[in-house]
Amino acid sequence: NRRVVLSERPNGLPDAKTLQLEHSEVPTPGADQVLLRTRYLSLDPYMRGRMNDAKSYAEPVKLGEVMTGQVVAEVMQSNCEGYAPGDHVLAGSGWQDYALSDGTDLRNLGQTPQNPSWYLGILGMPAYTAYAGLLEIGAPQPGETVVVAAASGPVGATVGQIAKIKGCRVVGIAGGPEKCAHVVENLGFDACLDHKSETFAADLKAACPQGVDIYFENVGGKVLYAVLPLLNAFARMPVCGVVSWYNLSGLPDGPDFGPAIMGTILRMKVKVQGFIIYDSFPPSLFKDFIRDMTGWLESGEVTYKEQVIDGLEHAPAALNDLLLGNSFGKMVVKVG
Ligand code: NDP
Repeated sequence: NRRVVLSERPNGLPDAKTLQLEHSEVPTPGADQVLLRTRYLSLDPYMRGRMNDAKSYAEPVKLGEVMTGQVVAEVMQSNCEGYAPGDHVLAGSGWQDYALSDGTDLRNLGQTPQNPSWYLGILGMPAYTAYAGLLEIGAPQPGETVVVAAASGPVGATVGQIAKIKGCRVVGIAGGPEKCAHVVENLGFDACLDHKSETFAADLKAACPQGVDIYFENVGGKVLYAVLPLLNAFARMPVCGVVSWYNLSGLPDGPDFGPAIMGTILRMKVKVQGFIIYDSFPPSLFKDFIRDMTGWLESGEVTYKEQVIDGLEHAPAALNDLLLGNSFGKMVVKVG
């Protein structure tokens, strides 16, 4: 049984000492327990936050503990009613080959789910984040302009595709020409701009001739500063994430953007609302999401791109790639 544990808290980007691979016995299920074999591990930006010993919406991972993460696993042995060997389940058992569960924290996906890894992406947490944040907080209206960064990733790609379905003009932001081409050609955004380009702020302004009505905030940093002057009166800003800042260990040097941010919110009457997907929306919304997303995938209105990394041992390096923008599509690790 291989397990990746948090062995040291990182200062900045995680390094070789942060996450370490250990070996242990395969656990034996007790009465009322199932033995799970991990098939796919999801890699997500929030994992960087769990490595810090800081106040947040969730407890940090303790030193020496298995790194947290959502997985699709297969039931190998079951002493639990409702679970049979061969069932696939969604579990929170983290970065390891095997785990035990009493079943209360599992979602049963059945014996042979089609595309099991999709429950970590387009049929799971990241796409639901996009759906809920855009529709409930952004409230898109036909003809409005929506801007979203990390546009080729699972959240951004879904935000943009749903906004197109709702009749909006959608402008994506991504790192590099290959990602930008994918966002326009395969995802159907109206435009996609490279945030690494020297002319990025001017390009964004040109791509939003009617201003910006919804800025779905995924990254913070220079993208946020380029969007601020383009916001229209009564714009909405669902604050989903600020991934460009996740590796900061303190406030950065440089100009103080507080006046620009708060001044714009005030003058343009911008609605800014942060949210955490686990507890910010009524549970019934998830059913609406599954119904709508299943329909959109069947009709081809939504398409999905995954990057599959082979082997648990490669997960730490893959997470750094994700944080640095070197991933392309929803990153999952094929574990067993
Ligand atoms: P992605 O797989 O899209 O990975 C993050 C992407 O962010 C990178 O690929 C990169 O894309 C972009 N990025 C990284 N650094 C920078 C930078 N300095 N400037 C601009 N872009 C950068 O992630 P997800 O789709 O899984 O998540 C997107 C956001 O949503 C994250 O902030 C995440 O924390 C948040 N989130 C929030 C949830 C909530 O409940 N509030 C739930 C789920 C996700 P590129 O190369 O294109 O720049």
